[in-house]
Amino acid sequence: MEMIHSALITGASRGIGLEFVKQLLTNSSLQAKIIIATCRSPEGATALQELKKSSERVHILKLDVTKFDTYDELALNVGSIVGDKGLTLLINNAGIAEASFKDSLKDITPEMYLSTFTTNSVAPVILTQALYPLLKQSAEAHSSETKNGLGVRRAAVINISSDLGSIKCAAGHIHRSLSYNESKAALNMSTQLLAKELARDGILIESIHPGVVRTDLTKDVEGDCPMIDSSTSVAGILSVLLYLQEKNKDGFLDYKGNVLPF
Ligand code: NDP
Repeated sequence: MEMIHSALITGASRGIGLEFVKQLLTNSSLQAKIIIATCRSPEGATALQELKKSSERVHILKLDVTKFDTYDELALNVGSIVGDKGLTLLINNAGIAEASFKDSLKDITPEMYLSTFTTNSVAPVILTQALYPLLKQSAEAHSSETKNGLGVRRAAVINISSDLGSIKCAAGHIHRSLSYNESKAALNMSTQLLAKELARDGILIESIHPGVVRTDLTKDVEGDCPMIDSSTSVAGILSVLLYLQEKNKDGFLDYKGNVLPF
């Protein structure tokens, strides 16, 4: 089992984000010594609070990813938790979908578009920017573990995307939401554009589709297609991460390690 220094997860109150916290504590292939679970309302996140009670490795910080003016303070708090070995893994997981995955032109509003883009596309990039010095610190402190190459043992940013953000895959899908699909396509583009720049500092970045997972986000489409549970999804993602050595150039990955086209 591999133990990385530290990980931060956004949207850790429930669903896939909460499962990341659980498995980074107990997974048989990849765990983190320090797990920073961030969420909008720590006081209401009871499952997360239970995990914190069970292990000193779990730290909870308040973060609404759309509140960009709180990012500097967050970075200071994260820095004091992770220490001089920096932040090894940032998982940009928080995400929203305001439509029922069956919308059409008449259903959309500018507000819906903007809030979906703010959370799903803008926040992951601006948070990566805010935490970049800590990621770089981890890349420097752990360079020997990957022989100066890239890898999750050194420093990595994982953007939780969706196959709905693939222009090619979305065409054959029964589900769609203009704002959601487009926000994830934009996120995939950010991953692609930042890959070279971050790699120069030893930081890996990748977009990952977690599969169609039974969570609050998908409760309205339950029964439309086969779904997996969040434990299968996250266990798959963590084993994919372990072997990742560079950003996939031709697309992005799913939780089984398959390459999805842009
Ligand atoms: P859930 O709706 O179960 O959970 C979403 C999480 O995001 C919650 O913890 C929620 O927090 C948090 N969140 C939403 N907005 C914000 C915000 N502004 N700031 C901080 N946290 C926020 O969804 P999933 O677990 O299914 O989704 C997780 C990620 O996986 C998303 O990015 C989603 O797009 C992606 N995904 C999911 C798929 C699926 O089949 N489930 C498929 C493909 C991708 P709160 O409790 O405060 O609302």
